[in-house]
Amino acid sequence: MCLISLRNIAVPPTSSPLHLLTTVFGHPAFRGAQAEIVTHVTSGGDALVLMPTGGGKSLCYQLPALLRDGTALVVSPLIALMQDQVAALKQVGVRAAFLNSTLDGREANAVERALRSGELDLLYVAPERLMMPRMLELLEESRIALFAIDEAHCVSQWGHDFRPEYLQLSVLHERFPDIPRIALTATADPQTRDEIVLRLALDKARVFVSSFDRPNIRYTIVDKNEARAQLLRFIQEDHAGDAGIVYCLSRKKVDETAAWLKTQGVRALPYHAGMDTAARAKHQARFQQEDGIVVVATIAFGMGIDKPDVRFVAHLDLPKSIEGYYQETGRAGRDGTPADAWMAYGLGDVVQQQRMIDMSEGGEVFKRVLRTKLDALLGLCESAGCRRVRLLDYFGEPSVACGNCDNCLDPPQTWDATDAARKALSCIYRTGQRFGAVHLIDVLRGKTTDRTTQWGHNKLTVFGIGADLDEAMWRNVFRQLVALGYARPDHEAYGALQLTDASRPVLKGEVSVEMRRVVVVKGGKEKTAKARRGASSSSAAQPNTALLDKLKDWRYVEAQAQSVPAFVIFHDSTLAGIAATNPKTLDALAGISGIGAKKLDRYGKAILELLHST
Ligand code: ADP
Ligand code: ZN
Repeated sequence: MCLISLRNIAVPPTSSPLHLLTTVFGHPAFRGAQAEIVTHVTSGGDALVLMPTGGGKSLCYQLPALLRDGTALVVSPLIALMQDQVAALKQVGVRAAFLNSTLDGREANAVERALRSGELDLLYVAPERLMMPRMLELLEESRIALFAIDEAHCVSQWGHDFRPEYLQLSVLHERFPDIPRIALTATADPQTRDEIVLRLALDKARVFVSSFDRPNIRYTIVDKNEARAQLLRFIQEDHAGDAGIVYCLSRKKVDETAAWLKTQGVRALPYHAGMDTAARAKHQARFQQEDGIVVVATIAFGMGIDKPDVRFVAHLDLPKSIEGYYQETGRAGRDGTPADAWMAYGLGDVVQQQRMIDMSEGGEVFKRVLRTKLDALLGLCESAGCRRVRLLDYFGEPSVACGNCDNCLDPPQTWDATDAARKALSCIYRTGQRFGAVHLIDVLRGKTTDRTTQWGHNKLTVFGIGADLDEAMWRNVFRQLVALGYARPDHEAYGALQLTDASRPVLKGEVSVEMRRVVVVKGGKEKTAKARRGASSSSAAQPNTALLDKLKDWRYVEAQAQSVPAFVIFHDSTLAGIAATNPKTLDALAGISGIGAKKLDRYGKAILELLHST
């Protein structure tokens, strides 16, 4: 095949981006704006690329790296990420290397020599390393094709991943004004974008904004009642044996949840900033390299994850904002195949997040910003309409109902909750605005407890006026009242519910209140994604699972032998493609996305033998 000759000499000038995409990477076509970006950067233009996670940013600089003369320098903030990228590039026959603190002096020298003599297509470096005077001199002596600045939002001081070293990257523009630069990020908001342009002096760059939709991710937000049991059911029924991430708010809850999942047979590992560095690194590495590990983590587990086959992200606690939620759920399904974003949400979450804001150190303006962000997220949780439409709308992107979220697949019923809301609010009022939902529900349902008797609440007119609704229903009513702003917890009084300005018109019967009805199926369980999937006709053709398992076993052995993560050998989507089409010849195998010339050469025969050995 032509690949060997292709890599031994420089890429011939006749090579088109599409030709390289198919022969080297094995993909039949470009996605979205990739082709345009590649052409622009290859011809020497600067670019700012805003694309969601999994959108295919890497190819936007990897192809120009092959098409332009010299070595592409890729600035990347995380060492683990670099190693996997380089391993994956080597698999497809691209001459890639990295320079970071894991190399000893001799290894680093060898890489530097290769750079100087033009033997590298791509070189990954950490920003602090790039800024060393010695490194900058080395670059001046070498032929540089382009600079790619990955995770460019790290220049943003207000963002979540600020890296001070990134601020110095504007030096690149000053010292190498003629070398094109491409900055890439999955952070969408305009403020961060402006900061990137400003700090990296990219004002002449062309900006490529992709749709931020992640169509393969299915969004589901369930009503929290027994969060752990709900989570376990979700994992067992929809994601047995899959890799996933479970986010919790506190370190303690991370530890407890991971330990509990383990007792239930899930291969779960904890990850949070309170663990020692070695244990944390070990868990992250296992997640990255092994199949089917579930990491239970605080949001400290984030940017270092470049695993394409994370099949689900579950939230046991509410994030702070839609930005946070979108970023965290975005770690699922980077490979483009179906993935789930699942969250259990209840009144406690609302109260907890509101308390964190009220008790935080910031000034009033700051708190107001946080409250607005939280309210937008609560709006998403309580919405009876398409979740995706709401998410994208938040990022300023219009869309239509997606057909791939809980509300689209199984439209929630709404009910006229005006009467219930009035009863609940009167109960708050009559009991002196000093009690939380648990007690209020007891009063409404007319339950005699020590507290109802002690406070004389069994004598109130509201005692027992809500006996027609069960406890779960009332919990829902209170949660929605708080989420919708009709009541609010007083954090200085242990979350006692109080009335708000918005309560009065409800109490007086001037406005009506509509609420989502909890989806309850037999046995008091909410429907799982699989149950719904079964009901929907759009589910994709099921691949041959026996073949797929065989392929995964083969991949595991191969990955172990080469000490690389399994996905570096082949992505799940490629294995699924093989299992579904069961190719008989090398040519047929080559037609599957993810199998380029080098991988065909290296693994093609073994795969055909595996497929047709029995
Ligand atoms: P990002 O950096 O934007 O998160 P990646 O560059 O890691 O995304 O790409 C995500 C996944 O999509 C990878 O598995 C990659 O192989 C795949 N991919 C990218 N471009 C294409 C394409 N044109 N056709 C098929 N798969 C693609
Ligand atoms: Zn939808």
